[in-house]
Amino acid sequence: MDSSASSVPVGPLERALHAARALVLADLVADEVAEPDVVSFVEDSVAQRRWWVEQWPEGVDFVAGLVAQDVQDALLERYGRWPLCPVCGSGDPHALDVEPELGADPHWVCAKAGVLVAAVGSLGSVRR
Ligand SMILES: [Zn+2]
Repeated sequence: MDSSASSVPVGPLERALHAARALVLADLVADEVAEPDVVSFVEDSVAQRRWWVEQWPEGVDFVAGLVAQDVQDALLERYGRWPLCPVCGSGDPHALDVEPELGADPHWVCAKAGVLVAAVGSLGSVRR
């Protein structure tokens, strides 16, 4: 019996998008900024990046870093810097950057101190 018609296989694209969504949401929750409208930024980004990866399948591993940057940009316009750097105790509060900007295995880094802070999705480990 062929069941392929009734079940939609979950391909690498859907898995990558699902993982990206989960990682960025975890970081938003860690900073207690996962308000409904902020979550909608994540959904918007995931929808745009689905289109993007469909055009360029080789970019599938880059989706988590890109969604993180999309959400960061959306938050900056609406609320302000996110996520704030937990490393630098003095001076102006500043946001962490995603590195690599276009690559697999994205991390939050402090560009000022040159410190790798946490993997995207693991900000909760450095918040207290
Ligand atoms: Zn810093």
